[in-house]
Amino acid sequence: MYENVMKQFNHAADTMNLDKGIRKILASTNSEISVHFPVKMDDGSIEVFNGYRVQHNNALGPYKGGLRFHPAVDIDTARALAIWMTWKTALAGLPFGGGKGGVTIDPKKYSMGELERITRRFTYALGENIGPDVDIPAPDVNTNPQIMAWIADTFSSTKSPSTRMLNLHVVTGKPIGSGGLKGRDRATGYGVVSSIKYWAKLKGVNLQGKTFAVQGFGNVGYWASHFMMELGAKLIAVQDASGTIFNEEGIDAEALHNHVGNHNGVIKGFPDTQKIDNSEFYSINCDILIPAALSNQITIDNAAGVKAMLIAEGANGPIDTEGEKILLERGIDILPDILCNAGGVTGSYYEWLQNKRSENYNIDTVLKMIDEKLGEAFEKTVNSANKYNTDWRTGAYCVALERIQQTYKERGVFP
Ligand code: NAD
Repeated sequence: MYENVMKQFNHAADTMNLDKGIRKILASTNSEISVHFPVKMDDGSIEVFNGYRVQHNNALGPYKGGLRFHPAVDIDTARALAIWMTWKTALAGLPFGGGKGGVTIDPKKYSMGELERITRRFTYALGENIGPDVDIPAPDVNTNPQIMAWIADTFSSTKSPSTRMLNLHVVTGKPIGSGGLKGRDRATGYGVVSSIKYWAKLKGVNLQGKTFAVQGFGNVGYWASHFMMELGAKLIAVQDASGTIFNEEGIDAEALHNHVGNHNGVIKGFPDTQKIDNSEFYSINCDILIPAALSNQITIDNAAGVKAMLIAEGANGPIDTEGEKILLERGIDILPDILCNAGGVTGSYYEWLQNKRSENYNIDTVLKMIDEKLGEAFEKTVNSANKYNTDWRTGAYCVALERIQQTYKERGVFP
């Protein structure tokens, strides 16, 4: 992942001739925090856990990015994801930098009580390295609104009681009752479809009746399917960790969502669909592909088989650089992750803002604001790609790098 993100950065930096000094700053991270903290287990024993927070760059504002609870979390993963966040927030025009982190655990192995104590003790260990104007975490893989509520409570409870309410926006993605944003749950999937709508307008494509396939039917995959179906597009294939299902006549995203809710979170066993081999997924005959699960899914091994005219990256880094070369040569359009899935962090920005201002946005306002921000980012991406005669991913990176470069040029480097 780290290799991929650095290849993309170096290519964009060459394309827009990024200042040498600023390039050095952005090629490294500002700080990398590793913590080891003890937690009392339900049986009375003590375990020590490893947690990370990487803060890549904060030239544009406080660090922003998710916390992941997963056995594969390490400093390299956090570093790559933090760097991606810097480009994503810069492209979306948000007043944030990029950060990412997590704890190396498989959360399924712990009770709710243990997870709560792990979360609270991790928050305590991070101390003043996070804060509403310093670094604002959010949910990521295996973390959710409940975990964000525990972080907000722990962080604010360890501050003076008189400032308690001023600290709750140390995290976004909180439950609604704890200052969360209406619509944050669907913000990423909604943003994926907003980006597809802007693409369709540019290309003169009518989305009504177009077919699409989705990899991953979790938060992003489900909501993207929901909003695509609202536009009259037809979902014909879905792949998740349990396999791949296909139906040329269409799969009802709402019925599948209910099925997943009642079957341990997986699509397996959904009726009236044909089970196909996982390896066939990316060569399915459809108009639009939405990878919304893992990174490095489209590579040199399967890019030549893609039949879709558009790939909209809901996941972070689903296409590697070799795979992308083949897709671009074949004239397939790609909506890059830092644009296409930026609806989530944009929603987080409005949550942070509503907490800061003691306001409460309604869901229609939230979705409209996300759509507008993504529309601006889409236009900047296309204009930048045209200006530098390059692909949309590089164009999007150039927008982000130009914004950060301008800030450094205006402010200079202390002292
Ligand atoms: P999620 O945990 O809700 O869902 C993940 C889905 O991926 C599940 O359906 C799971 O079965 C599927 N999956 C897991 N392993 C798989 C495999 N080997 N093959 C096929 N499918 C597999 O996660 P999510 O929040 O929907 O996030 C999905 C992707 O989108 C991640 O890359 C994440 O970083 C990215 N993303 C999420 C958000 C957000 O707001 N949730 C924002 C930006 C980017």
